[in-house]
Parts: sequence; C-alpha cells; structure tokens
Amino acid sequence: MDQERLLRELTEFLRIPSVSTLPTHNKDCRAAAEWVGAELRRLGCHDVEFLGSETHPVVSGKGPDVPGAPTLIIYGHYDVQPPDPLGEWTNPPFEPAIRDGKIYARGSADDKGQVFCLLKAIAALPRPPVNFRFLIEGEEEFGSTVLFDLLKREPQRVRADAVLVADMSYVAPEWPAVYTTLRGLCYAEITVRTSKTDLHSGEYGGAAPNAHEELCRLLSRLKSEDGKINIPGFYGPVKRPSKAELAAWKKLPFNEKDFLRKRVQAKALVGLKKYSVLERLWALPTFEIHGILGGFTGEGAKTVIPAEATVKVSMRLVPNQKLAAVERQLAAAVKRLAPKFVTATVRFLHGADPAQIEVDHPAFQLLGQAFKEVTGRATVPARAGGSIPVVPALASGGAPVILTGIGLPDDRLHAPNEKLDLKQLWDGIEVFGRFYELLGGAGRM
Ligand SMILES: [Zn+2]
Repeated sequence: MDQERLLRELTEFLRIPSVSTLPTHNKDCRAAAEWVGAELRRLGCHDVEFLGSETHPVVSGKGPDVPGAPTLIIYGHYDVQPPDPLGEWTNPPFEPAIRDGKIYARGSADDKGQVFCLLKAIAALPRPPVNFRFLIEGEEEFGSTVLFDLLKREPQRVRADAVLVADMSYVAPEWPAVYTTLRGLCYAEITVRTSKTDLHSGEYGGAAPNAHEELCRLLSRLKSEDGKINIPGFYGPVKRPSKAELAAWKKLPFNEKDFLRKRVQAKALVGLKKYSVLERLWALPTFEIHGILGGFTGEGAKTVIPAEATVKVSMRLVPNQKLAAVERQLAAAVKRLAPKFVTATVRFLHGADPAQIEVDHPAFQLLGQAFKEVTGRATVPARAGGSIPVVPALASGGAPVILTGIGLPDDRLHAPNEKLDLKQLWDGIEVFGRFYELLGGAGRM
C-alpha cells in the first residue's frame, strides 16, 4: 500500500470544508461531491451522476459489470458537521494534521475517512469482484432530504444483494462491530414569548414575566433531574433489550468508570441510574438541550427582561418509537406544561425513525470473516446511539443493510479534534477489500 500517496489524497478530501448545514459552504459541498465523482471515475465507474441538488448532490455511480456476481451498494456521506468551537482545535479543522499515528480533521472519521477507506479498498484489488453501486450523499448531517427524495422517485436504486454503510465505529479498540439498531432523532426548536417587546429590568423587573425564566422552567418540567423525560406517552413503545442481549453486552470490554474518565471527561454520569450506561446509551431515548437563544448575550451588561427565548432540543428515539408520534407528544407536552400567560410554539427541524436490523444474512458472516482474517477478531453485534436517518430507506429494496465502520469510540465525532487512527484506516482498506472478494466468491444471494 502506498501510504504516503493515500494520505496525500485523504488530506485533499479533508481540506474541503463541506459543512452541509451552512449555506456559505454550498460551493465546498459541491467541491467534495466532485472529489467523490472523480474517485468513482478512477475506479472505472460508468454513469457517474450528480443527482437531486446542485449544491448537495447524491453522487451515484456504477462500477464495471461483473456478470453473475452480487450487487453491493456502497453508502457514505461527504458532508461534515460545523467545526466550531474553533478555539478548541489543536490544528485548524480543515488543515489535517498527523500526530501519533492519527489524522486530525473535521470529517476524518465521520465520514470522509471511511468513504475513502471503502473506495481505496476497491482500488487496491486487481479487479472488482462484485457489481458496485455507489450512493454517496452530501446531506447526512442535515436530514438527507435529497437522498430521501431520490429514493422515493427511484426506488430501484436500492435494489441489490447488500448495502454497506461504513459510518460507524468499533465498539471498543480491537472490537469491530455490526450494529443491530440505530436511534432515531426528533429535532425541534421551542420558543416562548412572554411580552410584546423586551423590557427594562429596573422599570418592570419584579412584575413582568421573563421569557428565559419561563423557558428554563418549562425545560425542567420536560426532563427531571433524575433523567426522566416527562412527555406523556414518550416511553410507551420502548422495549427493554432481551436478557440474552443484555448478557452479551456484559461481555463487551466496556467499563463505566473508563467511559466517564477517558471519554466523557466529566465528574459524573447522569441519567436513569437504574439502567446500565450501555442501556442508557443504546436502548433508551434521550432529551438534550443544544442551545438557548434570546435576550442579551453580548459583552458587558445590559439589563433587559427578554420577551422571547428559543431553545434547540433533540430527542434520540429507540426501536418502536415513531418520529411522527413523538412530534405530537412533544407539542402536546409543551402546550400543557407552559403557563397560560406564555405563548409557546414548537417547530420541528428534522428527524428520523429509529432503525432495527437483523444481522443473520450471510453477508454479515462474510464481513465478520474479513475482519477476523485481517484484525484477528470477527465483528460483534452491538447497538448504536447515533442516527443515520436514511437507513430505513436504504433497506426498502429488501437488501440487508450492513452497518459497520473503522472508527474508534474516542474519535470525537461532531466535536473539536475529530480524528481517525491510521492503523484503523490501513486495516479497513484490507478488511473491506477482503469482504468484497468474499462476497464476490459467494455469488448472488
Ligand atoms: Zn456520519
């Protein structure tokens, strides 16, 4: 493997600041799509297309025809999360730097580094062993609307023998995994308005209502200190994992103290204490506050009673919860819990249903075998706390969706100093190459 050349090429891809949520980066998103398109052409793809959007297209391509071999769809995304807070990065997020065998940059693990790995694994083979189809999107961090619309219009695009999604990580160092569930997501903005305009806190303070105060009270009613979410009906469909699954989790190298000390890097863990940390992370829904807007947040002092306050929140959903139902439940709870003199409104930004995946299809065995041959350990089934909204749509053609990845749990996705261990990348290129060969050898499924 010419590691030097590969690192140069990966660096080029990571340099493109393809932040899909910020319109100022539309050109960069398109540039990242072009980068992927050029790679696909180099792999011998015919029909490389940019579909559904000028700025955030789905890059689609068909690998060379391999008669009689299975068809494998490769999914990934070239967009990335915003890099802020910039001050916390050791190197600038779009100027990749290598330290201690790791490459640090926004997108290194989520998901450009992994897309790179899947594509270079093909390039490293003497000839393609399967019929590759590519769907590399540019809106994963922004709701996947373009890809959703595309698959609705053209459902045949997910007809295949298997779909490979490498947007995940090992469950622990040296423990590759395939994922059996993904949490869904319900992202909302809640706004409370308490008066027509902002008011002077000397003239009105003590008698006028304060939007931030009412918002804080509302939030503390929605989720209590012990971590319980007080939205009527919310926990109704949530099922506890089976005894066998809980027992399997106990065998994973997961230590709550290490998790707190090394990964969370806080003084305590929170949440529903009667459940294990893994159960809280994988099998229970969440309610998180992401930011509060309104009032005065500039430098210095300004004595204002804010008339309006907005909070951005999201809930991660677990199997059997439904996005549409949770939206209704949240809207009803806000209405019920806000005092009568407050106008409270809820706006939903984006979301996804949770996904559940059976991992008994033979393709999962072959991936496990490839990992075992290259890294010494086969994949273990695990659950994921995160969301990939488009997974149910990718599964809609009936092909098994293999959720796996080469990242590590401490890659700091969506956070400052995101990284990818280079050993994971080099191993990954070998693993996926081997998987493609095994799949080709197995024939149509
Ligand atoms: Zn991702």
